[in-house]
Amino acid sequence: MIKNIEISDSAALAIDVLTQNGYSAYVVGGAVRDALIKRKTNDFDVATDATPKDVIRVFSNFQVLLTGEKHGTVTVMLSEPIEITTFRTEGIYEDLRRPSNVEFISSLGEDLKRRDFTMNALAYDGKGEIIDLYGGISDINAKIIKTVGDPEKRFGEDALRILRAVRFASVLGFKIEENTLNAAIKLKNNLQAVSKERIFAELEKILQGEYVIDTLMNYSEIIFEIVPELRPCYKFEQHINRHKYDVYEHIVRSVGAVDNEKELRLAMFFHDSGKPQKFFIDENGIGHFYNHSEVSAAITLDALKRLKAPNKLINEVVWLVANHHLYMKNDRIELKRLLSEHGEERIAALIRVKCADCMAKGTEDAEQTSDEIKRIKNTIDEILRSGECLTVSDLAVGGDDLAELGFKGESIGKTLQALLNDVICGNLPNERERLIKSAKKRAEKYE
Ligand code: ATP
Ligand code: MG
Repeated sequence: MIKNIEISDSAALAIDVLTQNGYSAYVVGGAVRDALIKRKTNDFDVATDATPKDVIRVFSNFQVLLTGEKHGTVTVMLSEPIEITTFRTEGIYEDLRRPSNVEFISSLGEDLKRRDFTMNALAYDGKGEIIDLYGGISDINAKIIKTVGDPEKRFGEDALRILRAVRFASVLGFKIEENTLNAAIKLKNNLQAVSKERIFAELEKILQGEYVIDTLMNYSEIIFEIVPELRPCYKFEQHINRHKYDVYEHIVRSVGAVDNEKELRLAMFFHDSGKPQKFFIDENGIGHFYNHSEVSAAITLDALKRLKAPNKLINEVVWLVANHHLYMKNDRIELKRLLSEHGEERIAALIRVKCADCMAKGTEDAEQTSDEIKRIKNTIDEILRSGECLTVSDLAVGGDDLAELGFKGESIGKTLQALLNDVICGNLPNERERLIKSAKKRAEKYE
C-alpha cells in the first residue's frame, strides 16, 4: 500500500545507511501501527536482511551496542537509539516462552509472519510504501487484534502473546478477534510457564491503559489466570445500597477512576480483594465486610511477591490497600497528625485512592463522600502550603539542644516527639525558647 507515514530522523537515517550499502531495511512493528492510528511512538524498530555483523560494519562510525546479537538485534546510537534486527524466523518453542534458536533469513515476508498480531506485522520502507501481507491495515481500521496465522498455534508457541493481546486492548481500545480470543482463553493456562517478571510488566501496562475498564471486564478470565486472587470477587454481590456494582466491577471501575500511576492503579486493583472472605449479611439483609482492608493487604502482599514486583512498589501498594479505609476527618489538627505520622506523599496518594474508591461506587451518596474527600484534600494542601511544623526535624530545637539540657538516649527522641505533638495540637508554638522551657519542665518530671 502506498502511504507516507512519519518516522523519526534517526529511523530514516538507519534505513538510508542500510539501503545505500545494498541491504533492504524497513521500520517494523509497533511504530508502523502507531503511525497509522496517529499515536505517538518513541520506539522505532528497524528490520533488515543485513546480519548483525554487517550492521556493525556499516555503522562503524557510530556507537553500536550488542543488545541481543544472538537473536539478531543490535542497537545503533544515532540521535536516538535505534534497534536494528536481522530478518529471522524463530525455531521451535520448547518452553512456551522463548524460541530455542533463531535463524537469520533474507525474506521480509517470513520475518513478518513470526510476529504476534496482524497490526504488528507491518513494515514501512521509509519511502512511502507499507508492506501489509497479513491484513494488518484493515484490522487496524476495524480495531481488531488478531494473530498472524492460527491463534492456537501462535499462543502455543509463546503464551505471553495472550497477555500482549489483552494489553493492546487496554492501551489501544481494540477488541480481540473472536477466534483469537477463544484460543487465548483455551490456552490461558500456558501463562503459568511464562516468567513472572514478564507477566508483571504486562499487567502494569494493562492497568495503565486508557481502556482499562472495558479490558478488565471483557477479558476477566485471562486476568484471573495471572491474578487468581481476584476471581472470588467476580459477580460477588455486596448487598449494600451505597454500592451499585459487584465487588469485581467496583474494583475495575476504581482502577479506571484513579490517576494513571502504577502504584495507584495497583492499589485500586487489589483494594477490595479481601471482601469475599470478610462478607457477612446482617438480619436486615445488609452486607458487611468488616476489616476487609487487612485481608486485602495480605492478599496484595502475596500476589505482588509472587509476581516479583519490586519491593518498594510492594510496600507502597500494600500500605495504600491496608489503609484505604483509614478514617479521615476535615479537621486541621487531625490531618496534621496524619501527615506527621505517615508523611505527605503517602497521605496524598491515599486521598487519591479514597476519591477513586468513592467514584467507583456508582451511587449519589458516593458523590457527597467524594466532595468531603475533596474538602479534606484542600485542607491538606493549605497545611502544606503554610509550611507548618509536621516532623521532628521541623522543630525549632534538635537532639543536641536536649542533650545539653541533660537528656540521654531514648528520652531525647521521646521528648522531641512529645514536643512535636504539642506543636501540632497548637498547645505550644514552634519557638526555640518555649520548646526549651517545656523540655526542661519534662526533664524535672522525669527526675
Ligand atoms: P509497544 O512498543 O508499544 O509496546 P510494540 O508492538 O512495538 O508495542 P514490542 O514489544 O516493542 O511491541 O515489540 C516489537 C515488535 O516485535 C512487535 O510489534 C511485534 O511485531 C514483535 N513482537 C514482540 N513480542 C512478540 C512476541 N512475543 N511474539 C511475536 N512477535 C512479537
Ligand atoms: Mg515497541
